[in-house]
Amino acid sequence: MGCVFCDIIARRAPAHIVYEDEATVAFMDIMPIHEGHTLVVPKTHAADAFEIDPEEAAAAMRTAVKVARAVKAAFGCDGVNIFQSNGPAAGQTVFHFHIHVLPRWAGDRSIALRREYFAGDADLQRAAERIRKAIEPQS
Ligand code: AMP
Ligand code: ZN
Repeated sequence: MGCVFCDIIARRAPAHIVYEDEATVAFMDIMPIHEGHTLVVPKTHAADAFEIDPEEAAAAMRTAVKVARAVKAAFGCDGVNIFQSNGPAAGQTVFHFHIHVLPRWAGDRSIALRREYFAGDADLQRAAERIRKAIEPQS
């Protein structure tokens, strides 16, 4: 099965690449939410956060921080979102792990998360316990 981001990394597909190192590539999002919207990908294919080697994810985040600083300097934006999505339910549409670097301007309404759950302290405690138990087998 083809992967468009693997094709971009291998220069089989066109992209406006802004940065590359041994582990990562950064290029312009083809359908930017704002001017300067950039994507960062690890060179090694992994679909999402459930699958990726954490070291590859760390390398991608290092590049995302570098790109975020460059985007802020280049466009003079007020803020930058650094985010990524895992699975269709989370809005993922390209199944090669990628980090969005999205410039933001005060008062823009391009991305707003809507809260669908209201927790009391006991709810937070129960949720924390479930996550602690799930983290243990990984460490
Ligand atoms: P996500 O919804 O997090 O999976 O984001 C996928 C992003 O990839 C979207 O913002 C798309 O606009 C972008 N995208 C899809 N195909 C390409 C491409 N060939 N070159 C650059 N960006 C792309
Ligand atoms: Zn890929």
